[in-house]
Amino acid sequence: MGRSIDPQCRICRRLGVKLFLKGKRCFSPSCPIERKGAIAPGVHGERFERSSPYKKQLLEKQKLRASYGISEYQLKNYFEKARKGGRKTDLVLMQMLESRLDNVIFRLGLTPNRKTARQLVNHGKVMIDNRRVTIPSFSVKPGQVIAIKEEVSEIPQVRDTYSEKVIPLPWLKRKALVGKMVRWPKKEELDTQVDILSIVEFYSR
Ligand code: SF4
Repeated sequence: MGRSIDPQCRICRRLGVKLFLKGKRCFSPSCPIERKGAIAPGVHGERFERSSPYKKQLLEKQKLRASYGISEYQLKNYFEKARKGGRKTDLVLMQMLESRLDNVIFRLGLTPNRKTARQLVNHGKVMIDNRRVTIPSFSVKPGQVIAIKEEVSEIPQVRDTYSEKVIPLPWLKRKALVGKMVRWPKKEELDTQVDILSIVEFYSR
């Protein structure tokens, strides 16, 4: 199953939770979930559905995939690597996802969402340690410096976001269009609405 190309708000509505996939609109009253509640799209949106442990695990997995914009294949691969890591699978899995280049750019407050960050990477606007990287899933390591090309600051979406002076998470540092991953994120610093243990259980079946 590939990466979802559904409109972002539709993904949130289908999963019944705000995933903050767009940026500013997610924090405004025009967010469809704020206006209409977490009702699935379509005429059967309010239909009663039975819940089960499997369904809960599946939902958490879909939420994680949608948040990071990754395919089923990619998530399964991350899980397999995390399981073989010899440390806590849930923590390693989240650290791998958080260290993705598109996510690091978003977390640094350089773009309003991961989708925009991915576009910048795909278009060759991102340098790591002075070398151009065009792979959004590139795994950033502590100590590496991420720089966005100066011309990108002219894009209104990016300019508005990075001029907001967002304070990056404690494991990241940023000055203007240059950021650095200082260390791996700790468990308590992981900012996610997903129950990661449910996902570990899902793939361990
Ligand atoms: Fe759309 Fe953002 Fe609201 Fe999700 S949280 S429904 S992406 S506006």
